[in-house]
Amino acid sequence: MRPAVFLDRDGVLNVDKGYLYRREDFEWMPGAIAAVKRLNGMGYLVFVVTNQSGVARGYYRENDVTALHAWMNGQLGLHGARIDKFYYCPHHTEGSVPEYATACECRKPLPGLILAAFAEWDVDRARSFLVGDKDSDLAAAAAAGIRGYKFAGGDLDEFIQAVHAARN
Ligand SMILES: [Mg+2]
Ligand SMILES: [Zn+2]
Repeated sequence: MRPAVFLDRDGVLNVDKGYLYRREDFEWMPGAIAAVKRLNGMGYLVFVVTNQSGVARGYYRENDVTALHAWMNGQLGLHGARIDKFYYCPHHTEGSVPEYATACECRKPLPGLILAAFAEWDVDRARSFLVGDKDSDLAAAAAAGIRGYKFAGGDLDEFIQAVHAARN
């Protein structure tokens, strides 16, 4: 059983540019790759939990999301770091693509993405936590029974080190 760190994507791992799906527009946050590598080394499972309502809104396709995530893991791999799994919500009740325009249980602040990881992996929940940049991220963490920490920008690796030190 391993602890897990749940990372929001936009605004935590990468600069939030709004409905980002093209790798040309992707920009890592400072310290993001180092943070993931550090968490890998400390024995954490590392998951991304991200709302991607751009799929429901018709701005991009689910394939674009998974392709970007595969590319991100490729970039991380160049530095010996990895995300263990990306969990994303493609839904939105106001969406224009019927199959995704549904009320789901995975869009944060609901905890469905985190609970999906709990169902698929042997996670030590008490030692797990989430890092997000919005209140909806922290609400999802609380609903899943884990602690959430709000990242207001800056160096993600320094932030993770401070969180880890405070917890141990
Ligand atoms: Mg965010
Ligand atoms: Zn959803």
